[in-house]
Amino acid sequence: MKKHNFSSGPSILPDEVLQKAAQAVLNFNDSGLSLIEISHRDPTFVHIINSARNQALELLKLKNKGYSALFLQGGASLEFVRVTYNLLSANGTAGYINTGNWSNNAQNEASYFGKIVEVASSKNKNYSYIPKNIQVPSNLDYLHITSNNTIYGTQFKEFPQTDVPLVCDMSSDIFSRVLDFTKFDLIYACAQKNAGTSGVNLVIVKNELLERIKKTIPNIMSYKKHIEKESMYNTPSVFSVYVSYLTLNWLKDSGGVAAMERKNRAKANLIYSEIDRNNLFFGNAVVEDRSTMNATFFLKDESLAAHFNTLCLKEGIYGINGHRTAGGYRASIYNALSITSVQLLVQVMQHFETKFG
Ligand code: PMP
Repeated sequence: MKKHNFSSGPSILPDEVLQKAAQAVLNFNDSGLSLIEISHRDPTFVHIINSARNQALELLKLKNKGYSALFLQGGASLEFVRVTYNLLSANGTAGYINTGNWSNNAQNEASYFGKIVEVASSKNKNYSYIPKNIQVPSNLDYLHITSNNTIYGTQFKEFPQTDVPLVCDMSSDIFSRVLDFTKFDLIYACAQKNAGTSGVNLVIVKNELLERIKKTIPNIMSYKKHIEKESMYNTPSVFSVYVSYLTLNWLKDSGGVAAMERKNRAKANLIYSEIDRNNLFFGNAVVEDRSTMNATFFLKDESLAAHFNTLCLKEGIYGINGHRTAGGYRASIYNALSITSVQLLVQVMQHFETKFG
């Protein structure tokens, strides 16, 4: 039985992506070779990575707007460091908005390299909200934001107004909603939620931003070098890039980001309405800041957890346990998850209430 996959990442992929990816491993395009046994310099693969880079820009409406797209490695965690390496000058300061574990990690990593300032934080209330009316100092080399807090289930709906370069970790909500992406100078995301599978990170950078970098950076850490080498400075993660290529094509064929946003809103409304209605659960993220990607919720009576878990298991609901640091439950409802999976989860929650409420 195919399970209903609410995993936070690596996470659900569209069926057609899985099928094409599986086929490519066995016999890529009837070539008699597997995709993962050919050279990354083979024109077939060069076409795949370039198409995926283009598709990413097109989906975000950044094509011909002076941006480059890269597929790099090391996860979003490596971008925490690469961003700082490239953008933080010797005497400069980087600003961080701390809205969850991942932004906290990003800012910690940056602090090894230079001066950082925490511009705003929601740590005081266990990351249950998004700080508002943020005053951004004007002397920053860049401001770093995490658009969606995967663990605690909050999401920026509006971004701070600022003239300093805006860097955004969109790991868990890229391609999920329409934004004016030209507001961002650098966007990065690990692929394993809305953009493919793990092993690759998508980086989208405004070329102009890199022109001001004067320091020498090791090649593997340099965005400029990766752009110059068209994302092939070293051997890319070929299989992961191919899964991203398929996922982005699927996204385009499914109506693009606007269609995803409509679908994601419908799913989010469904699950949050149930969390609010059901007497056995509560949500802790502030309502206006709730994520449309990761819905977090808790049992009012923890002693019922085993019963709820058993019901979920029986219905093939997978991956709704909260992050180990947060506890409770988390339904990750990324682009590829169908609304029928959310409907099923809601039914299970209702059934649970009837039995134990
Ligand atoms: N940022 C965010 C918002 C994330 O959700 C995650 C992973 N879940 C990361 C960064 C870290 O990504 P990785 O494990 O690929 O380094």
